[in-house]
Amino acid sequence: MDDENFEVRAYPELWAGLNMDVARFDKSRQMLGDVYRKMFLAQPNRPRAMRYFDGVIAEIFGGRIEEMLAAKQEGRPVVGTFCVYVPEEIVVAAGGICVGLCGGSQGSIPDAEKTLPRNICPMVKSAYGFKAGRICPYFQTVDFVYGETTCDAKKKTWELLDRLVPTHVMEIPQMKGLRDKAMWLAEVQDFKARVEAVCRKRVTESDLAGAIRTINDKRRALQRLTALRAADPAPINGRDGLLIEQIAFYDEPVRFARRVNALCDELEERVRRGEGVTAGRAPRVMIAGTPMALPNWKVHNLVEAAGAVVVNEESCIGTRYFKDLIEEEVSGLDRQLEALTDRYMRIDCSCFTPNNERIEQVLAEYRSSNAQGIIHYSLQFCHTYNIEEIRIREACEQKGIPYLAIESDYSPEDVGQLQTRIEAFLEQIRG
Ligand code: SF4
Ligand code: SF4
Repeated sequence: MDDENFEVRAYPELWAGLNMDVARFDKSRQMLGDVYRKMFLAQPNRPRAMRYFDGVIAEIFGGRIEEMLAAKQEGRPVVGTFCVYVPEEIVVAAGGICVGLCGGSQGSIPDAEKTLPRNICPMVKSAYGFKAGRICPYFQTVDFVYGETTCDAKKKTWELLDRLVPTHVMEIPQMKGLRDKAMWLAEVQDFKARVEAVCRKRVTESDLAGAIRTINDKRRALQRLTALRAADPAPINGRDGLLIEQIAFYDEPVRFARRVNALCDELEERVRRGEGVTAGRAPRVMIAGTPMALPNWKVHNLVEAAGAVVVNEESCIGTRYFKDLIEEEVSGLDRQLEALTDRYMRIDCSCFTPNNERIEQVLAEYRSSNAQGIIHYSLQFCHTYNIEEIRIREACEQKGIPYLAIESDYSPEDVGQLQTRIEAFLEQIRG
């Protein structure tokens, strides 16, 4: 399919079989295709290896769903998650498929607002609305979902979501002391027992070792991509970088890592030749803050439409998902679970207090990505990121780092105002 005729493919019979609102969902499918053509396919000088990821988007509501349904036929369950704290290695070790369900779309919010209060985080509303409106084939495919207690909006929404789809909840600690680590290990053990019960399979040491390697490989491929984006000039646009980070939560992990590595081979060639994705030197911006779930491309699109390039995402759909690996050379299931727990406790989400590691991490990524300014992005009503933003701002002021804080939702209403602020910020960087 050439770029002009790109579309997200329709699977009406498959969707009807999943009890979806097909007519309504088909409109969102067409809109996604239109937006993708404009924001992604129209970019000049895209790496050839992005074709694979275009294909993933073309098949996002069909081909990947068919793969999941085939796995279910083989007795391998599909588990939906909303947070990078839920350990996907355990699902993979038990033979299941883990899929990220975080919502990034305005389209499902009216469905959620029929039940949920308006003044809560749009990510929570969007995710809930997808299930309530029967307008997400992933939600209709999962056997059960695993929520967590990272924030108040999420943990109370799971009680209501459980009426629509079986919803289990992991308790995430809020601090990082020894007691918190012990509690988290117990939660991970309960999670493993629950997944084993559904999969009707005991996870062995070798199953878990294999799954840890598989997911580590996925994270290593994403680390490699991030390191290449640090080259100046940047060999790939931030929109494509973010898209790949979003696809990491949907795609089959072995195939995904192979394709990201193939892209990195091509980018290494570009870097070797000193070839950038933009025509001239472009201001380099790093984004830090709340995750941008598919199809939330709003800020990246505004930044890059204004002539800059996004070189890093310090976010859970970004480096927070892949910066840490699980130690592989560990024997015995108990030791493996401890190693897994240690790695997950290094995630520096703003739900922790204190969270000094994240302030350090933002500064370290600013340096390693060769950025020239930081945009902090918070979703509306995300209290923890919105308040932690104050400390990030202070750290940037101390270091003289150009800084802009944005608080936004998924609606297009603030696009004009954001564009003005972003353009002024880029002028400051251009000096
Ligand atoms: S920001 Fe926090 S709550 Fe959200 S996905 Fe990341 S770790 Fe989970
Ligand atoms: S962005 Fe903030 S409020 Fe929204 S789900 Fe994540 S932690 Fe909760």
